[in-house]
Formats: sequence, structure tokens, C-alpha cells
Amino acid sequence: MEVIQVNNLVKYYKTKKKVVKAVDDISFSILKGERFGFLGPNGAGKTTTIRAILGLLRGVKGEITILGEKINPNKDTVYRNHIGYIPGELGLEPEFNAIQICKYLSELYDISFNLDEIKNIAKRLKLDVNRPIQELSKGNKQKVGILTALMGDFDILILDEPTAGLDPLIQSEFFEIIKERQEKTSCTVFICSHLLSEVEKFCNRVAIIRNGKIVEISKISELKEKGLKSFQLEFTSNAGLMEFVQYLESQFPSASVKSQSVNRIEFLITPENKRNLLHDISEMQWAGEYIKDFNINNSSLEDIFMKYYEIDNPEEER
Ligand code: ATP
Repeated sequence: MEVIQVNNLVKYYKTKKKVVKAVDDISFSILKGERFGFLGPNGAGKTTTIRAILGLLRGVKGEITILGEKINPNKDTVYRNHIGYIPGELGLEPEFNAIQICKYLSELYDISFNLDEIKNIAKRLKLDVNRPIQELSKGNKQKVGILTALMGDFDILILDEPTAGLDPLIQSEFFEIIKERQEKTSCTVFICSHLLSEVEKFCNRVAIIRNGKIVEISKISELKEKGLKSFQLEFTSNAGLMEFVQYLESQFPSASVKSQSVNRIEFLITPENKRNLLHDISEMQWAGEYIKDFNINNSSLEDIFMKYYEIDNPEEER
């Protein structure tokens, strides 16, 4: 079942100087229980898409269906009770602490919440639930936002940069918590994050948005299968490595070297070139003499997606 469906979504921002097409006719759908990553460089249109789905933007064109119901994001609000999300700003009473905020929201939106679970998540995130919001650092305020997103038994979690401002240990704890929640409740997770290694571990499918358009949408496993292959070679001597580098540059000029030391090299190569290179290595006598060890892996999501991030300045291109 499709839990989120977005069809031909368009959003322009009009400023005094210009009109920005932030989201340019995008369509996608997310199935029940999917862990869907929505990735892209700064200014690509991720937050705009999320805010449109949540009905937090005016002047949105297109069609949005949530849990099978076509919604008018500018009018309907009830559908949001099925969605846990981290508000951009905790625009609530600054003297409230995390628990008081959760209680307040649960009464306002009629969401039942499990106090013990909230306290447990807060403990794992190392958040002091007794301190008022106004006294918290940016990262700790973000943790309160996370608690509000997880306080109910939501069908959908929409998480826009949920780990912004969190330290690395807490970032990975957060992904662990979300993973456990998703496994327990089979909720659908729609997440934007620049932490590609965590996205790679957590998501089953990703879309890449760039300049307001979706340029790739695929299962992570498929992307990795068709993506570049990473070779790590170890040589018996530097002379052997140098000979190999010469050969690589002449035969596979598109290979991209990631790192090189005295007798080791790591590079990325297309799946087709991988086959040719392996053929050459098996045929060449010097390869047997010089190559001590080698490893081939699918490249990481980070490597696969880097090309989508390598753009000058997305905000100036439209
Ligand atoms: P990031 O990764 O930096 O959070 P993003 O992918 O979420 O980026 P958006 O915030 O959706 O990007 O912005 C998309 C485009 O819309 C950008 O060009 C941005 O400058 C523009 N934009 C966003 N909000 C406004 C606004 N309120 N007024 C004018 N332009 C805006």
C-alpha cells in the first residue's frame, strides 16, 4: 500500500528580486513500512517538499495522498495526527521542559503517549528532561524535537535532518532508536539526511533531488549493484605500484583514484571496466609478480551520490 503519494508537486517562492522554483514538478510514492531516504545537496528542495506534504506551505501545486486519502495540505490538518515529525522551531513555551512539551502536544492533538518510552529515548539521547527548553543548547533542543516525533505510535515518521546539531555518538544512537521503532511498529519512515553512511545502513530506497527535480529513485541495493566498483590493491613494492598506475592511467583514464600510498592504491571504476581490468590482471605476468593482495567492493552510497552533490551552486541555477 502506498502511504505517501506525491504527484506533480510544484512550489515557487517569490522574493522581491526573483522567483525561485524550489520544487519543479516532482512525483514519487512511498510504500507502507519503507525506509525512504530523500537526499540532495543544500537548496535542492528537500525541506520544501516535506513542508508541502505537512501542509506548512502556501501556494503548493500538485496532488498529495496520505494513507490513501487525497489531502489538501493547505486546508486539511487531521492527517498530520498520523505523522510524527520534528518541527523546525519548537515555538512553544520556552519554560516547558521536554516532558511538559510532549504532554502539551499529546493533549492538543489527542495523541496517546507512553511516558516511560519517552523517558527511555531521552536517556539514550542523553537529554535532561527536567531542564526548560530555553536553557538547552541547539543539539539538545533538537533532541526534544526528536522526542515529539516519536511520542506517539505514528504510521509515518517524516524526519528532516533529524540529527542536525547532534554529536556523532548521539547521531548513531538516534538511527538505532529509529531502526528499533520501525522494526517494532512497521511505520513508514521518510528521512532527509546528509549522513550518507547512516542512510545507507538504514534506508531501503532513496530518491535524489537536485535543483528541484528528482534525478534518481532506486533501491539502495540496485544502486550499489550498478554503481562504481571500488578496487583496493596492495603491491609487493612501490615500483610495482608505479607500473600499475601507468597502466591504469593509459587504459582506464576514467578510473578515479581515492587514495594512494607507497604500495597501496584504492580507486573506483565502472562495472564494465571492472571486467576488463580483471581480465587484464589475470593475463599479465607482471600483475602476478607485483600484486600482493586485492579486494573489490561495491562503492558506498557516498561515492555513488557524490556526483549529484558536485554542482556549483544550486540556488543560483534556478
Ligand atoms: P538543505 O539541504 O540546505 O536544507 P533543501 O534541499 O532542504 O536544502 P529547500 O530549503 O527546500 O532546500 O530550498 C529549495 C530552494 O528554495 C532553495 O533555492 C532555497 O533558497 C529556496 N527557498 C527556500 N525557502 C525559501 C523562502 N522562504 N523564500 C525564498 N526562497 C526559498
